[in-house]
Amino acid sequence: MAGRITTPPMSQEGNRAVLPLGFVSGLLDMIEQPLIVAERSGNLLFVNTRARKCLESRGYMAIQGLNLFGDLLHVEPGKIFDKIEKGEHQVHLQIQRGEAKSTVRVQWMPEPDWLVVEIQNKSEAQPAADPATQLTVQELLQEREITYRNLLAAYLKLQEVNRQKTVFLASAAHELKTPLAVIKGYYDLLLAGSLGRLTDKQQDILEESKESCERLVRLVSMFLNYSALESGKLVLQLRENDLRDCLDELGKRWSEAFQRKGVKLDASFDPSIPTFRFDYQKVQQVAANLLDNALKHTPSGGSVTLRAVPHFWERRVAAMAPVEERRRFRLPRPNSVEVSVTDSGPGIAAEHHQEIFEDFVRVDRNTSGMGLGLAIAKRLIQAHRGKVWVESESRTGSRFTFLLPMDQG
Ligand code: ADP
Repeated sequence: MAGRITTPPMSQEGNRAVLPLGFVSGLLDMIEQPLIVAERSGNLLFVNTRARKCLESRGYMAIQGLNLFGDLLHVEPGKIFDKIEKGEHQVHLQIQRGEAKSTVRVQWMPEPDWLVVEIQNKSEAQPAADPATQLTVQELLQEREITYRNLLAAYLKLQEVNRQKTVFLASAAHELKTPLAVIKGYYDLLLAGSLGRLTDKQQDILEESKESCERLVRLVSMFLNYSALESGKLVLQLRENDLRDCLDELGKRWSEAFQRKGVKLDASFDPSIPTFRFDYQKVQQVAANLLDNALKHTPSGGSVTLRAVPHFWERRVAAMAPVEERRRFRLPRPNSVEVSVTDSGPGIAAEHHQEIFEDFVRVDRNTSGMGLGLAIAKRLIQAHRGKVWVESESRTGSRFTFLLPMDQG
């Protein structure tokens, strides 16, 4: 039975090259010539497919444990290393096993101190090697090393440019904050009639302008939140809070915008949700981002539901009790709260369900936004050790849900 030859693992000591084994084996297999790579001790590191077949045909059914000098070349290591020490990096040898005669070329690679053995069988007329396959292992490794370094340098440069871009945009956004607050203040004054009576037409125009201004304020603050999260400035203010208060306050704040668009907003919060530790502002921001999206994507006449119920999150208790025990004695109290925002909008195709939570990803280009609302929501929920996801099919609305564990440290 032909033994399956596996490449022995690279020893830690000999492992000076930072290449994954699979990668090197893959490269060697691309070479037409039978090739073996061994450590100075004769311990085999890699055997390419051609060499493996060649050795199998010579009766070596299992390569593992074989020594290059004693078992394969039948030569004293000194005979090779004497020449290498005299400055020869290549040694040619003739080996014979039974009838089969082969010529081998042993090449020494000073770094990482490997021997590369190329076998040429006398009996087999080798087809002229394709010039593309004549690269030596050392050249291939060097080429790979250079590519790796270039890629790393390009990646670091891109990261730095990206950081500079975020810093620049954050300072620009910061500069916009104050004038926008002033403009919004004047709209409020005008709309309240403090600066004189307005005609109906003026009232409508100012309300529309104020709405646009508020959207701009939200975009700016969205970006500022994002850049703060990006620069690692996220600090949770975990306090004992009432989630129903948090969401109720938000619902009231948004009710006017929903009314204006003619979208019904239903809010229902289970009275049994206890107070627990969470960051009031951040959770409110997550729910606000979801409400903002629901309103944006739901046409007039549609409806949106904001709901919060206690939830038993099984995964979170997995470490505490074995499965059978948990099944027998269902833990008496829920360990998390499930908050969901459901809308009757156009829905989201399944292929976008993951990517919409990534930075700057926007699917619907007809609405305003920067593709950051969900990315920020995800980060904030994950910081609470919770999770957020979407369920939706095109044309049947969307349901965004997040779970907030109630056992925050
Ligand atoms: P943006 O601030 O641009 O809306 P988000 O990260 O909040 O960015 O959303 C990303 C994308 O997810 C949006 O461009 C939109 O296509 C889609 N999306 C989010 N919420 C909804 C929703 N309720 N209904 C339909 N599509 C939505």
